[in-house]
Amino acid sequence: MTLARELASVVPEESIVEAAAPYVADQTEGRGVKGRADAVVLPSTTAEVARLLTWCYDHDIPLIPRGGGTGYAGGAVPLDGGIVLGLERLARVRAFDPLLWRISVEAGVTTGTVRRLARENGLVFPPDPGAGEQSQIGGNIATNAGGPHAFKYGTTGAWVTGLEAVVPPGDVVTVGGPIRKDVAGYDLKSLLIGSEGTLGIITAAWLRLVPAPEAAFPVAAFYRDAADGCAAIERVLGTGLLVAALEYLDGATLDAAARSFPVERPRDAAFLVLADADGSAVEAERLRHEIIDALAERSLAVHAPTEPGAIAELWRWREGVSIAVTAQLGGKVSEDIVVPVDRLREAIDGTLEIGARHGLPACSWGHAGDGNLHSTFLVSPVDEDGLARATDAAGELFELAVRLGGSISGEHGVGWMKRGRLAQQWSPRAVALHDEIKRIFDPKGLLNPGKKAAV
Ligand SMILES: Cc1cc2nc3c(=O)[nH]c(=O)nc-3n(C[C@H](O)[C@H](O)[C@H](O)COP(=O)(O)OP(=O)(O)OC[C@H]3O[C@@H](n4cnc5c(N)ncnc54)[C@H](O)[C@@H]3O)c2cc1C
Repeated sequence: MTLARELASVVPEESIVEAAAPYVADQTEGRGVKGRADAVVLPSTTAEVARLLTWCYDHDIPLIPRGGGTGYAGGAVPLDGGIVLGLERLARVRAFDPLLWRISVEAGVTTGTVRRLARENGLVFPPDPGAGEQSQIGGNIATNAGGPHAFKYGTTGAWVTGLEAVVPPGDVVTVGGPIRKDVAGYDLKSLLIGSEGTLGIITAAWLRLVPAPEAAFPVAAFYRDAADGCAAIERVLGTGLLVAALEYLDGATLDAAARSFPVERPRDAAFLVLADADGSAVEAERLRHEIIDALAERSLAVHAPTEPGAIAELWRWREGVSIAVTAQLGGKVSEDIVVPVDRLREAIDGTLEIGARHGLPACSWGHAGDGNLHSTFLVSPVDEDGLARATDAAGELFELAVRLGGSISGEHGVGWMKRGRLAQQWSPRAVALHDEIKRIFDPKGLLNPGKKAAV
């Protein structure tokens, strides 16, 4: 019997997809990472997900959960066959109580949909990772995704009050719910958050929302170099300004993206800091002025729009930075290291030094307030030698992050690309506990095998 025919006795036939091609790669495809699936199943209920996992466990077949496929770590790629479980049809809003600031959605609802629903009701769901129209809440939770406004509001996990998940060998578990506090038992919810599909399949979540700030004003300031820019970032923090976002772009990133910047870039500018002031109209206006003051010293120009259209244009530009960088050579190897914020400049300089050592154009940008860099090496996707050198360069980046007291990943997770690297930053006992947790949840190792592996 073919696998598809066997699966038809487990899940409805219409949930078995014939064309696997769109489900075997993610954003690492440009780095040559592509898998192969024995089957792709798109269930539309939690019960179907549970039946599928039970069947996989009975038949020793790997199951690979997949959201929108926007991940940068190869986490959703079926590297060695198995069944891809796409969550896109689990896309219902189960409950929405705007007056109680909460929503319950299935895993396949896109981030953009949740943010839009919240906004239309005077609320906000603050996590804002890029690719919001494609990435799913389940994927955001599975990677604990961040984004610019994580600086003030925290990453996705901070907004999850409950989870429904299917865990091996096929049981539905619910932890938390529409409650704002919960300290009963070990924190299984937080274990599932960021577990990258290796412990359980998230099928639904209860999310916390907050009333939307009345106003938000971005302030962008240009500097001659990273030294002046990083000093400005530390000034914003040192002055005690609670900015909503605190972003940076280095000179090479500006070279790639400045053409579409809403106003002209000063000739000598080789660093940009972008901050966001939000709150009530009065608070946001006051904070905006305080940010302008804090960023002014040694800046070459400040752009601080107040009109909604101009504000939206500035954030649209920021969202397009990654694409503008990729467009330089058609591909890139981009990692998401984190360092203590006072080591940011060393990490920015270190990225350029590593690139130069490997003969690769390099740049970085990212979430400065969180010390989270998108350190990037530009490479053509057809340049195999360049890709190999960029992979070696990425390895040195992880060493740099650990040396500076940071982490190999602040946003994208370990997935396949950083497998085995956790041991670089954790003690052997911590790594052993990590592996034990995987074994307790998934004793047969069938759930997203090989991903997030510590050693
Ligand atoms: C242009 C662009 C900008 C980005 N900007 C940011 C950013 O600012 N911050 C940030 O953090 N990330 C960012 N990302 C990365 C990406 O968007 C996030 O990691 C996102 O959360 C992944 O969601 P997804 O639904 O696409 O998951 P996928 O890529 O499909 O999967 C990611 C991982 O989660 C697992 N998974 C997916 N759904 C489930 C589920 N329901 N249950 C269990 N496991 C699951 C998969 O197995 C895989 O390991 C960006 C990506 C792009 C393309």
